[in-house]
Amino acid sequence: MSILSHILGFPRIGLNRELKKGQESYWKKEISYSDLKKVGFKLRNKNWLEQKKLGLDFITVGDFAWYDHVLTMSMILGNVPKRYKEENYKKKRKLDLLFSIARGSIKNGKSIPASDMTKWFNTNYHYIVPEFFKNQKFFLGWNQLFDEVEEALLLNSRVKVVLIGPITYLWLGKTKDRNFNKLDLLKSILTIYKEIFIRLKNLGVDWVQIDEPILAYELSETWKQSFSIAYEYLSGINNLLLTTYFGDISHNLDFIIKLPVEGLHVDLIYGQYDLNILNSLIPKSWVLSLGIINGRNIWKSNLLKWFDVLNSMIKSRDNTWISSSCSLLHVPIDVTVEKKMELELKNCFSFAIQKCKEICLLSKSLNTGLNIEIKKWYDPILNRNIKSRNKNISFYKKIKIFPEDLKRNSSYNIRYNIQKLKLKIPILPTTTIGSFPQTKDIRKLRFDFKNKLISNEQYEKEICKNIKYIISEQEKLNLDILVHGEPERNDMVEYFGEKLEGFVFTENGWVQSYGSRCVKPPIIVNDIKRKESITVKWTVFAQSLTKKIVKGMLTGPVTILLWSFFREDLSKEEICNQIALALREEVLDLESSGIKIIQIDEPALREGLPLRKTDWKNYLSWSINSFRLVSSSVKDQTQIHTHMCYCEFNEIMPSIVNLDADVITIETARSDMELLDFFKKFKYPNSIGPGVYDIHSPNIPTIDSIEKLLRKALKTIPVHQLWVNPDCGLKTRSWKETRISLKNMVEAVERVRYNLIPR
Ligand code: GLN
Ligand code: ZN
Repeated sequence: MSILSHILGFPRIGLNRELKKGQESYWKKEISYSDLKKVGFKLRNKNWLEQKKLGLDFITVGDFAWYDHVLTMSMILGNVPKRYKEENYKKKRKLDLLFSIARGSIKNGKSIPASDMTKWFNTNYHYIVPEFFKNQKFFLGWNQLFDEVEEALLLNSRVKVVLIGPITYLWLGKTKDRNFNKLDLLKSILTIYKEIFIRLKNLGVDWVQIDEPILAYELSETWKQSFSIAYEYLSGINNLLLTTYFGDISHNLDFIIKLPVEGLHVDLIYGQYDLNILNSLIPKSWVLSLGIINGRNIWKSNLLKWFDVLNSMIKSRDNTWISSSCSLLHVPIDVTVEKKMELELKNCFSFAIQKCKEICLLSKSLNTGLNIEIKKWYDPILNRNIKSRNKNISFYKKIKIFPEDLKRNSSYNIRYNIQKLKLKIPILPTTTIGSFPQTKDIRKLRFDFKNKLISNEQYEKEICKNIKYIISEQEKLNLDILVHGEPERNDMVEYFGEKLEGFVFTENGWVQSYGSRCVKPPIIVNDIKRKESITVKWTVFAQSLTKKIVKGMLTGPVTILLWSFFREDLSKEEICNQIALALREEVLDLESSGIKIIQIDEPALREGLPLRKTDWKNYLSWSINSFRLVSSSVKDQTQIHTHMCYCEFNEIMPSIVNLDADVITIETARSDMELLDFFKKFKYPNSIGPGVYDIHSPNIPTIDSIEKLLRKALKTIPVHQLWVNPDCGLKTRSWKETRISLKNMVEAVERVRYNLIPR
């Protein structure tokens, strides 16, 4: 038997972000429906031909999505939110319906809200959350997948279809009815899956990759049983490759191996398996697909090492497949198009196309003997390591972190009193999260500067003008704690990456974040150091314009790490500490320049949690320490803020407390302050600014609605601990919306204060 090669999925956006351009032109009605369909058709064909040309044994179909692959599954299953079903469901084109669910729509002047969007496991990709209700019925609602299979079959390659598995699909959705369990819908959903499988079989598809990443979680008995029920019911139609990724599944293997499937895919990057043990546990009749090539980072793999490891293992197993650890959705497409990148570095990187090549090289060598290319594949990285080792021993190893580096001088209560005296902050202080509207003019200014169309002097003059405007607007609004507004920042991670030493940037390394939004994550290639101050100039300038306190604004170390591609020769903890030390210098610099409040944003902290709870402790320990390393060396009177969004904090409350930030601002507006119950339950000791309105929506919050939320918050949070702010940065909003919303926020606070102050 020979070893087969495949990938779990290919990036769908296109090398030149053709999908984004197509979607956005279609939304603006600049291109027709059939033009858009052509864009998708071309992209899929290109991706398949690439896989075929590189020599993969399967081409993977079903990884394409017009917006998001979870939403695709919802459409296939006929799961359309009720509010959209009522909106002439039958008449609408399926694709238009799909975009409406993802982006919201307007009917008779009334807005129909989009479905929620949230993070895909521990990645920075966002999916559209399925919505479930009691007694819901499903039906085969969309033929897109079958059309795609037919397109693919024309290419004369072996086709493998990927689908999100029924249990993971149910897990990902949310339900509004409290008195019902999503798993009650399982039977109804399974009948549709069966229908899909039969259709695929009739088309001639023999293998289905059924993605069940939730198998990396610790599952309750009920969820485990659901797996058995589902796969008993679905077995015997196609060959099923049960596919897991983003975590280790060892703790669930006992029941997984009893499922009636034909194969199992494991992620060997995020899973810490002993391959021999794994091999012995997996039924001999099954295909074992090994996710060797990292689908979430961009460094070449040490193929020679893998060759040795696998060469002995495959002797005892007939059916081994070689694959990417997860879908290649999370990496850019092709490194060879990077023109400005140093060749020595470029040779160390492997993007999606290169990863396909790695998989093919490895499987070919295992089948026919070691080839020369594999021997040389990893040399650029080895050479680079040797070179840097000769130059300087890793910077990190020279520094030691002492326990006192992680602790503020005094406890919160003492700090609170000192700050109260020195900062003279009123009760229910009002502030914002950092950014103010990023207007077209600001974007153009940065673009012109980057492309050297204007001088540094002109650029700085314009940024100062912007800051001046932002400060004066905040003064007019009578906010208490001001910000400079971040006009100089394109992206909260890229901006810091560009200023720190140790990062490189791609010209075209786009990765889909959601829908048509793509990001270009920076790459960490060296030890991280601060070359010069990063934010001091702008913050100090802003402070010089006002008597009120201006809050300094930094992106935290965990967020910078997780939203970058990081090096693999150091642990995440070590890299994070390097970033933290660089940021600590910035914090101290801000402090000594007279900045009295400093906010350190950590929106990625929650997303970085490993899937398995037993692994949480380690992650939380180093990530929280890293934050503390940045924030602890300031004087007692300097107030540290942090901000987090999209957060389900309930399970990590002790760690949030442990950050020991003087103030934490969080997103709660959409959940009606429910999150605050956890803060109460845990007796959160420091101050909190629960967001009082949702900045993701263009709706203007009324004074009454904010006042109501504030009064509700006061029931759980003592008044001296409560801050008032929107739930995230204002960069995506217009000035018009921002001004009215903030005015209403300040007004609502005035009303509440009036009742609180004894007269
Ligand atoms: N300070 C950032 C801003 O206001 C925070 C962004 C975020 O939380 N993602 O834009
Ligand atoms: Zn936020």
